[in-house]
Amino acid sequence: MSNELIVKFWGVRGSYPTPGDQTIKYGGNTACVEVRAGERTLILDAGTGIISLGRDLILREGHARRPLDLMLLISHLHHDHTQGFPFFVPAFSPQARIHIFGPGATPETLEGVLEGNQSPQTFPVTLREMASTKIIRSLSERETITWDENGIQLNEPGGTVKNDAISIRIHRSYAHPGGVYVYRISWHGKSIVYATDTEGYAGSDRRLVQFARDADLLIHDAQYTEEHYQGQTAGFPSTQGYGHSTLNMACEVAMAAEVNRLVLFHHEPSHNDAMIAKMERQAQSLFAQAMAAYEGLEIKIPAGSPYGIGREMSPAERGVKYVQHG
Ligand SMILES: [Zn+2]
Ligand SMILES: [Zn+2]
Repeated sequence: MSNELIVKFWGVRGSYPTPGDQTIKYGGNTACVEVRAGERTLILDAGTGIISLGRDLILREGHARRPLDLMLLISHLHHDHTQGFPFFVPAFSPQARIHIFGPGATPETLEGVLEGNQSPQTFPVTLREMASTKIIRSLSERETITWDENGIQLNEPGGTVKNDAISIRIHRSYAHPGGVYVYRISWHGKSIVYATDTEGYAGSDRRLVQFARDADLLIHDAQYTEEHYQGQTAGFPSTQGYGHSTLNMACEVAMAAEVNRLVLFHHEPSHNDAMIAKMERQAQSLFAQAMAAYEGLEIKIPAGSPYGIGREMSPAERGVKYVQHG
């Protein structure tokens, strides 16, 4: 079995879907990222990108004579992170079991919101009528998730993790209206941090930097240009306080946390392909290992740190180069 951690982007757009000929290169579906660790599949957010992922999972797993076991981690409950779920085909399969975790004031909050999204007034099929087995629970940021051959468990931090276990930690960010969960997924000494819908602070978000420290891959909100954020783009108000970052803020976190790679995510819906390509070049001038997420992008993170499991390489050892700028 391969020890590669595979990350695939199915929806990279923020706020609302943007189909059309101006968004073909990067894609118009809202947030959804798939993470494969060996035979286990995790999904980050259920924007409209999850619809194609669902069909693909059924095709891929259709021949494997085992139940489809999935974990869906929701960053927060805004529409663009949940709106694809009612059309997620595996959720209709009696062979599928889906663990859904996310934020919420009580353990039942997440289930209540998802049920509300599919109330009879707003959608023809209720959550309960979807034939899969669903285990839905709001988590506290104190909890960690482990997923190994014994299944999925919720623990308090500090426990030991077996070599083949996927371990997930939560950082609760207040830099988005209503708050948002940032997830760090680790497996065989490799880590991915998913930080969507978060606004940077002056001098960078120190709690997030600490949480993302030395990650192999940081997926970070980069919705705005500096001009747009400051209200200097004609026709657009300042977006300060909206809970989204500029590409500079994303690069600041990546540099300070010394991550290996940065993927710019949650693209502004009014931006066409040319604009995102321009922002990508700007980001690369700040942090060389930056790229803009696009639908279909697949990143493979090989296991095999020369130091073995449990010892992550330093940025220099990983060959990370930083662009110095004034
Ligand atoms: Zn969003
Ligand atoms: Zn949001």
